[in-house]
Amino acid sequence: MFQTLVHYSLHFLAIGAIAYWYDKTNWKRNWLILLATMAVDLDHLLADPIFHPGRCGIGFHVLHSEYVIPVYLLGAMFLKRSVLKLIFIGLSFHMFTDLTDCLWMYSECGSCEIREVFSGF
Ligand SMILES: [Zn+2]
Repeated sequence: MFQTLVHYSLHFLAIGAIAYWYDKTNWKRNWLILLATMAVDLDHLLADPIFHPGRCGIGFHVLHSEYVIPVYLLGAMFLKRSVLKLIFIGLSFHMFTDLTDCLWMYSECGSCEIREVFSGF
């Protein structure tokens, strides 16, 4: 329960702080842009089953893979200040949030190995 609360607080509330940090005058618009980056979770629709409570999405889903995460990070770090940079910041923070969830799940999994949690890497 607490893990879920933290997870969704990061996904929906913390990005409000990021939006404010990024541009204090347009933080509401930026918050909406960051909320829109949640659409990256549409890649879950390609998985079978679509939702599995014990699965780590990082390294499993296409848009959460080790191939695209570096693109998100590089875009967030090196693009000039723009909506696209903000989108990459949102995607990077989304991956951080999901990774936090994976590590939390792993820490509470007494019998699983780290390689099972991050099977996609
Ligand atoms: Zn996700």
